[in-house]
Amino acid sequence: MAKPAILTVDDEPAVSQAIARDLRRHYGAQYQIVRAASGSEALTVLTEFALRDRPIALIVSDQRMPAMTGVELLERSRRHAPEAKLVLLTAYADTDVAIKAINDIGLDYYLLKPWDPPEERLYPVLDDLLGDWQEAHVDDTGGVRVVGHRWSERSHELKTFLARNHVPYRWLDLERDDEARRLQDLARAATTDLPLVLVPDGETLRAPSTLQVASALGLRTRAEQPLYDLCIVGAGPAGLAAAVYGASEGLRTVVVEREAPGGQAGQSAAIENYLGFPRGLSGAELTHRAVAQARRFGAEMVLARDVVGFEPRGPVRVLRFHDGSEIEARAVLIATGVSYRVLEALGVEDFAGRGVFYGASAGDAQACAGEDVYVVGAANSAGQAALNLARFAQRVVLLVRSDALEKSMSRYLVERIVAADNIEVRLQSEVVAGRGEDHLEAITVADRGGDTKEEVATNWLFVFIGASPRTDWLGYDVARDEKGFVITGPDLLTHKDGPRWPLTRAPFALETSVPGVFAAGDVRLDSMKRVASSVGEGAMSVYLVHRYLATI
Ligand SMILES: Cc1cc2nc3c(=O)[nH]c(=O)nc-3n(C[C@H](O)[C@H](O)[C@H](O)COP(=O)(O)OP(=O)(O)OC[C@H]3O[C@@H](n4cnc5c(N)ncnc54)[C@H](O)[C@@H]3O)c2cc1C
Repeated sequence: MAKPAILTVDDEPAVSQAIARDLRRHYGAQYQIVRAASGSEALTVLTEFALRDRPIALIVSDQRMPAMTGVELLERSRRHAPEAKLVLLTAYADTDVAIKAINDIGLDYYLLKPWDPPEERLYPVLDDLLGDWQEAHVDDTGGVRVVGHRWSERSHELKTFLARNHVPYRWLDLERDDEARRLQDLARAATTDLPLVLVPDGETLRAPSTLQVASALGLRTRAEQPLYDLCIVGAGPAGLAAAVYGASEGLRTVVVEREAPGGQAGQSAAIENYLGFPRGLSGAELTHRAVAQARRFGAEMVLARDVVGFEPRGPVRVLRFHDGSEIEARAVLIATGVSYRVLEALGVEDFAGRGVFYGASAGDAQACAGEDVYVVGAANSAGQAALNLARFAQRVVLLVRSDALEKSMSRYLVERIVAADNIEVRLQSEVVAGRGEDHLEAITVADRGGDTKEEVATNWLFVFIGASPRTDWLGYDVARDEKGFVITGPDLLTHKDGPRWPLTRAPFALETSVPGVFAAGDVRLDSMKRVASSVGEGAMSVYLVHRYLATI
């Protein structure tokens, strides 16, 4: 396969040569470096590449060029290379133009000239951008293959697991793909063997559990050490932040995650309010970076394992898995976040994973290209999902129970939803039923005001109707409120059933009713339920773990 390309555009020969030289030195082995001396020449190159189906990974353009500015070129290049990362080279005086371009044309980054030394001012930025591009464009020949039925809940679960763990895979649909049927025949697979997961150089997995797939792929599914300083349950933003700080500050740290790192944030198409990312970043990007960072500091990551029991055993805190195996640690952080509430409507529960989805991943959005999609919910998560799905779907209908979207959704999202041509908002409406054969085919939408009901045909219903913590596994020892949120710090002393704190010292801020067990992020009572606050609490919990360990 031809290498993907990096295109540089500059009318000044000296600058053009210098940037091409620096790019070739660092990226020449993996990318073809192509130069253009003007905006129009660049558009010709982009057209040729598009016609030959050759990918452009990155376009780096100078802003000041005579006939067409860099911003104008980058905006026009979207038509030819919609997936390419866009970087503007600017002088200091053009900073305002560059910042505006982040909003207006989706500029990924602006670099001030000169970029010397490139090791500090050029490569780190481009490494990040190209890393993200590569992840979204993994060569889809080779690698893992999943063979199954389009409307199988288990196929959907496995694909989600692979995608969220950044494992490149190829989906082969038995209804649409000859290759899928050929592989099913070759494997002599019965219906009960589906989905098949074919791992290169590995055995053919038949209707495997997530744990079996994780093990076959070499993902770590067991803890290595007999005792840790800190065991973190849940690898969402709170858990990952704690892993980075814990491991970097010398604690033997293990993180246990039942699905995939990233938690709810991992499902977000664009997190726009996280400090330091003015253009926003996807949950997948944030997760990818956080996992790399935690691993670099030496945190152990145990995946596809659900913690189902907890027990304080003397000074040791014990976490238990389904198969009876355990992890022991001197301190524990509960960072298990919240899970979506289930939509209660006649027949809808029958189609979970077969047309009814809780949350939406990037892959889900592409799967509904050209179709009519319904989204239920009125909070930011529903708004983000509607915008993301609208990139592919023919039409997205957002069903909202209240009479105004502004009541529950941030203004920046409401404005974009209203401006989108293919998103329709239906206020005061709710889903009351779902129907279909082997997958969802229609839903009934009721108007809350006028008692009217309408059945509409759709294969896609995405549900975002709030979430609650699943903390039953903590047992009685760890105090929670009636909804299951974990009570921490001073709140333990004013608990309505009397104080739930056993020691004479006061509990630390994020400490639960069991000394040495902390809670951070969405699972904690009265937390802010945002990425930044979860990251902050995760980081802070490590400081408190150190203080706790000093007391025992
Ligand atoms: C679609 C969507 C978009 C969002 N967009 C934004 C946004 O733009 N900006 C913003 O600030 N916030 C946003 N949020 C909210 C934000 O994602 C959450 O506040 C944040 O992820 C909470 O982090 P957390 O680590 O506390 O929990 P979570 O992200 O919920 O992570 C908890 C993790 O624990 C794991 N887990 C749970 N129980 C167990 C168990 N027993 N054993 C092992 N593992 C377990 C789960 O699988 C999960 O991975 C969004 C949320 C959603 C759903």
